[in-house]
Amino acid sequence: MTAAGPVTASSADVLREADRRRTFAVISHPDAGKSTLTEALALHARVISEAGAVHGKAGRRGVVSDWMEMEKARGISITSAALQFAYGDAVVNLLDTPGHADFSEDTYRVLSAVDSAVMLLDAAKGLEPQTLKLFDVCRHRGIPVITFVNKWDRPGRDALALCDELVERIGLQPMPLTWPVGVAGHFRGVLDRRDGDFIRYSRTAGGATAAGEERLDPARAEAEEGPEWTRAVEEAELLAASGGDFDLARFRDATGTPVLFGSAVLNFGVRHLLDLLVELAPRPTPRPDVNARPRALDAPFSAFVFKVQTGMDPSHRDQVAFARVCSGVFERGMVVTNTTTGKPFATKYVQQVFGQQRSTLDVAYPGDVIGLVNATALRVGDTLHADRRDVRFPGLPSFAPAHFAVARPADLSRAKQFRKGIDQLESEGVVQVLRSNRRGDGSPVFAAVGPMQFEVASHRLSAEFKSPVRLDPLPYTVVQRLVDPAQRALVDGNRSEVLTRADGADLALFVDNTALGVLRRLHPEVVLEPLVAGNG
Ligand code: GDP
Repeated sequence: MTAAGPVTASSADVLREADRRRTFAVISHPDAGKSTLTEALALHARVISEAGAVHGKAGRRGVVSDWMEMEKARGISITSAALQFAYGDAVVNLLDTPGHADFSEDTYRVLSAVDSAVMLLDAAKGLEPQTLKLFDVCRHRGIPVITFVNKWDRPGRDALALCDELVERIGLQPMPLTWPVGVAGHFRGVLDRRDGDFIRYSRTAGGATAAGEERLDPARAEAEEGPEWTRAVEEAELLAASGGDFDLARFRDATGTPVLFGSAVLNFGVRHLLDLLVELAPRPTPRPDVNARPRALDAPFSAFVFKVQTGMDPSHRDQVAFARVCSGVFERGMVVTNTTTGKPFATKYVQQVFGQQRSTLDVAYPGDVIGLVNATALRVGDTLHADRRDVRFPGLPSFAPAHFAVARPADLSRAKQFRKGIDQLESEGVVQVLRSNRRGDGSPVFAAVGPMQFEVASHRLSAEFKSPVRLDPLPYTVVQRLVDPAQRALVDGNRSEVLTRADGADLALFVDNTALGVLRRLHPEVVLEPLVAGNG
């Protein structure tokens, strides 16, 4: 049924290419240094890959223009969703997560497309609210996490205290691979816990793309660094005694996290992080389909859409769908099937998006991200494939919302466009749309993980559908899933109500925990289940 493109790669080629891929995201609370680290990783990889080349001017100031140059040189390719670069023999796919301060569902969706994550902590702040949520999602999804304690060049917390926090607050075993020499703010270098050597860092003029590194054996380290070295050695021994030695199995099953200390802005520890990703981070593995059957990496092409981005420019509603390749080879121009609609989908525009705005994408392997332009038919969660038999991956989970508002058209004469707009936003996953026929005027309720989603939805309703929206916030703060819809009437009340989501889930919303407690006392028979962030 599908006219697949001329796929020439052999099964061995695909498996070899997949094995080279490291697909991950850098995640953090805002301001921990995600953008700085992302740039440092890409620049460092490029410098290393172009061995022998002289980059005297590649200072921080030039990062932005450098970025463009990199694209042109095709050393790395940048899409708004993923950055791809070579490092040694590995191909690194660094997926972008939304940069704004607000937490949104996009971050969760991106995490469904990675094989591992790098969690960035600010040495002075430790675990922050979004750090906690993100760790929670990674744990529920079984995503292995490497922790990078950033900004060690500035005064911050005690390294052992930071490690204790990981155990105590999130039950994750820290397994430091390096240990800082010199307290935060007086960063000399790190003790490499795998061989006991001291790696001394030095600042390079103008903040270049790689830190100066010098490896010293323990005797020389002690002679030259004195008490700071001794303290690091003693602390490292304490770690070993408290189960902090590296254990690959614990990293892979997401119960332990390797920890590195560094400074993204000075490039301290960046090489170590890249090497660690290449060495230890999981490669793409066969992804289970809806029937829980893992799809072999060398099966015909398949991918799932994890992000749909619509341009804010109403004059041309360019829509790009980003999909992660799960099996086989993707070649530009091939015709694939969208499993949800059963319709063939021509991918000839892949060339344009990457050609005009980005770089040309000729071929992609498992672990890579492809961007499909004008993909108005594609929705988050859709499966694409070029197989004779249908392939379907499980839809992306929806998430426990934390913000609720009733949506009404500000201009009643535009009610039809308003409904159309809401349907579109809902299908793209911009906001969750909840409904209840007990709500007097039948107005839908927007629900979101982060309030920024409301702003995006409002903007698009006015700009694209010419139907401004009026949002009236609802006071709910606690959300549970109502298991038996027949019990709905027991929950609907002054301080709680049940609303139904498009996926059929009945969400019981309460103004606070007291309201939930009251219901539990009055009607202990009502079955409610907690919604976990990222598992709603
Ligand atoms: P993001 O919001 O997580 O993307 O954070 P940014 O990369 O924009 O960094 C936030 C601020 O922290 C910026 O002013 C950076 O220059 C600064 N920053 C990032 N990494 C470091 C670091 O290692 N040391 C110091 N001192 N500042 C850093």
